[in-house]
Amino acid sequence: MSTNTHHDCDVAIVGLGPVGLFSAIVLGTKGYRVVGLDRWATPYARPRAVTFDHEIARLLNSIGINADDDECIDYYDAIYRWQNANGDVLTEVDWMNQADDGWRNRYWFSQPALEERLRQIIASLPNVTLLQGHQVGEIQQDADGVTLTHRETEVNGTSCTVKEGGVTGTVRAAALIGSDGANSKVRADLGLTMQDLEFYYDWLVVDVLPNEDKEYDPPHYQVCDPVRPTTVVPGGPGPTPTSPRRRRWEFMALPGETAAELEADERVWELLAPFDVTPDNAVLERAVVWRFQAKYLDQWNVGRIALAGDAAHLMPPFAGEGMCAGLRDAANLCWHLDLILQGHAGWDSLDGYSSERLTNVRWYIDFAVDLGRTICVADPAEAAERDSRMIAEHLVQREIGPVHPHLATLGPGAWIADDAHAGRPAIAGRVAHHGRFGRFDDVVGTGWMLLSDVRQAAPLPPEQQARFEGIGGRIVSVGAPGSGADVIDVEGAYGRWMKQQGVNHLLVRPDFCVAATADTADTLATSMDTLFDAMGVRSLAGAA
Ligand SMILES: Cc1cc2nc3c(=O)[nH]c(=O)nc-3n(C[C@H](O)[C@H](O)[C@H](O)COP(=O)(O)OP(=O)(O)OC[C@H]3O[C@@H](n4cnc5c(N)ncnc54)[C@H](O)[C@@H]3O)c2cc1C
Repeated sequence: MSTNTHHDCDVAIVGLGPVGLFSAIVLGTKGYRVVGLDRWATPYARPRAVTFDHEIARLLNSIGINADDDECIDYYDAIYRWQNANGDVLTEVDWMNQADDGWRNRYWFSQPALEERLRQIIASLPNVTLLQGHQVGEIQQDADGVTLTHRETEVNGTSCTVKEGGVTGTVRAAALIGSDGANSKVRADLGLTMQDLEFYYDWLVVDVLPNEDKEYDPPHYQVCDPVRPTTVVPGGPGPTPTSPRRRRWEFMALPGETAAELEADERVWELLAPFDVTPDNAVLERAVVWRFQAKYLDQWNVGRIALAGDAAHLMPPFAGEGMCAGLRDAANLCWHLDLILQGHAGWDSLDGYSSERLTNVRWYIDFAVDLGRTICVADPAEAAERDSRMIAEHLVQREIGPVHPHLATLGPGAWIADDAHAGRPAIAGRVAHHGRFGRFDDVVGTGWMLLSDVRQAAPLPPEQQARFEGIGGRIVSVGAPGSGADVIDVEGAYGRWMKQQGVNHLLVRPDFCVAATADTADTLATSMDTLFDAMGVRSLAGAA
């Protein structure tokens, strides 16, 4: 006889990949009742993401995962090289330095291990319930909330199907996040279809557990050989703290090659042999052919339901940014939901989430597709032309230096469009605050944050200040040691940046994007009004 269950919550999350898990932690930490569901009982074990960037390191740190010092994350501080079949350097990317938020440009991990780490954090949040091994069925939305049904699953070999006579149940939520991946059921139920950029390449993705740690110089490189375009990168720490680090190879499938041929162990070892990886010195963890593609949704929300991660966009992994984009979605969506659930804004403010994230993701999709079109060249003449062009550009432009944020900005939403710094990642420095020294986020905190030069007294008029604090905003003064500021800019990061940019105020959002900068209190006040309007945040009178 099957059992029926029912859960009431603030937010239901369908799909517990990295995006759903991260969202559950952010909302759960804020005190919301969250129910997360996934059809698989354990993290999805097929090889996928291995790298994330500094913006994601900052986001992960905000939920308690310090990428510089966590067992499931690794880094190398070395260049990323693209070379041709002869070993000539086509280009080099600076993965040695830190970004101006203080995090390394690139980190390495195994996706199932990171997901397991996220689940450990959720285990400490009593208001977050995970229904793992439950497939979501019907989803219905009405004026007051969303109701979904779910059924217990069982694993059959490599697939997972509904269990006859298993537990069934319903979840009633104020809001629903559809983070259910590339084949999203939530997206299909909403009748939304993705735009397809018609970029399709099949690649064999191989994860290897070496018997011993081996030096690769550089540790990450791209072999632009038309005979077999290949990616050689780290794969994150090994399965135990004392294991050698994982390695990842990706080999482009050539016309006529099938997945079954490429995934056969014998064929995988043949492809690895030129890299001196053999059954004598390594174990194959996984070898799977993936179709790399580029797709996106134009609209990411309908009423109380919003899509995030691969459910809303897909990009080829050449930039290592697919999951990163999904975590940026989650950070953005969670603060929008927080405003709505607190009663400060209406459900239509999710339109801002959709438009902000769409533009940002489109930049990364185009970037990844451009990289892919340069890498996936199997024609020798085309490859020779590419090589001579890139070698010439590299000789002129070779410039290794501090990392700058990618050029992606947000689309229209809660930031000041004609502000050169807004809509992009904010800087972060090491500061002292209340007797503690460290990263700003660790010692001062995260969330809506207005940083003002200590010489600018009372930056906001009282009504605006109350409204800003009403949505959880904090106002802190920043200044040099001895200035009497709330936050002591011990290393001068904020002072230098503000002086260079000619600003005295920096308004940072909970997703670490700059909402506005301003030189004077008057400009700041005008920007604040524009932002409150853009977010649909009600005035204090309206909220009462
Ligand atoms: C080969 C490869 C390499 C990659 N490398 C990188 C990289 O280096 N860096 C990077 O940033 N990104 C990379 N990516 C992309 C990254 O893996 C994805 O963007 C990321 O996993 C998406 O996370 P998600 O949470 O949105 O979706 P998923 O991780 O796909 O999770 C969706 C979840 O929803 C569940 N689900 C689906 N339907 C239902 C249902 N009806 N009921 C219940 N549960 C359901 C699924 O079981 C699944 O667990 C790579 C991808 C590939 C394929």
